[in-house]
Amino acid sequence: MNKYLTALKNKVCSVCVDSDHDGICRLSEHEVCAVEKYHSQIVEVVHSVDSEDLQEYISALRKNICTLHCRMNEENNYCYLREDANCALDRHFPLIIETIQQVDKYDLSVQ
Ligand code: SF4
Ligand code: SF4
Repeated sequence: MNKYLTALKNKVCSVCVDSDHDGICRLSEHEVCAVEKYHSQIVEVVHSVDSEDLQEYISALRKNICTLHCRMNEENNYCYLREDANCALDRHFPLIIETIQQVDKYDLSVQ
């Protein structure tokens, strides 16, 4: 597992509603977490933006992951998982940005 995915699982899974008390993911084998699936692209998205404005990161996420790789309808920007608060990547995106930036700054994976 690379250092970003390790840090994301440490930080995000522990607060995710889809994890148990020990931070272990409870998704079934038929379900896929976008944080895991797209972690490489998420890192690229975060590294592509340098701003204090969260909306700029969200726009990059929608363009480079939601539309390009996942299920968002480009015509109307609709994603039923996001609408149902059922996408961990969308729910925890501010924490995900912070975690990646902390890895870059402090190399959290070695702690
Ligand atoms: S859904 Fe994703 S973020 Fe949530 S616990 Fe499972 S792997 Fe972690
Ligand atoms: S918000 Fe929707 S389109 Fe974007 S990553 Fe999550 S499930 Fe995929």
